[in-house]
Amino acid sequence: MQVKQVAARVLYLCLGEAASFSKDGHDSIRVSREIVMKNLGEIPRTPRKDRLIRERIHDPYKARLKLPEPALCPQCKAVYQQGRWRWGDPPAGASEVLCQACHRINDRYPAGELTLGGGFLNAHKTEILHLARNEEKLESGEHPLDRIMEVEDRGQTVVITTTGIHLPRRIGEAIHRAYEGDLDFHYEEESYTIRVRWNREA
Ligand SMILES: [Zn+2]
Repeated sequence: MQVKQVAARVLYLCLGEAASFSKDGHDSIRVSREIVMKNLGEIPRTPRKDRLIRERIHDPYKARLKLPEPALCPQCKAVYQQGRWRWGDPPAGASEVLCQACHRINDRYPAGELTLGGGFLNAHKTEILHLARNEEKLESGEHPLDRIMEVEDRGQTVVITTTGIHLPRRIGEAIHRAYEGDLDFHYEEESYTIRVRWNREA
């Protein structure tokens, strides 16, 4: 893939409808350089940076300039240090940077969705949701960016949205281990989203 096509693809994935690219790679970049620089920082220029490109397109919310260190998310108070987010006391002189989980929460744009359903759910909703919250506590304790965004009780189903792609699977597997039923996953690499469904009728 030519560098220009790669750059167009990165743009497309990061900016969604704001950019598009044609198959032959010509006339591909339709956004201004200002937007590009704001969202992506430096565009990789050589094929040797392919690995870097893959990392950048993996999670569109992660496609940013390198974060300053140390940094503190003003919303959830997670701390960014040595290349990762964690919970802890804010180091002196930390820059304020909104973490990608809070960014997703503010945009109401979840990375993961877990849908629970079936008659068994209705009879055991409280304990199942308690288990879900407990799994979230364990996951987000270690990985601050993987959190529950919303738990929406729709009566026959409950939809849990998350800021990361690991939590829906973790919760789904814990519920499956505890209560059996049917569990399935659908991961979309292009959009970096996961959908998990768990169902048990009786
Ligand atoms: Zn945050």
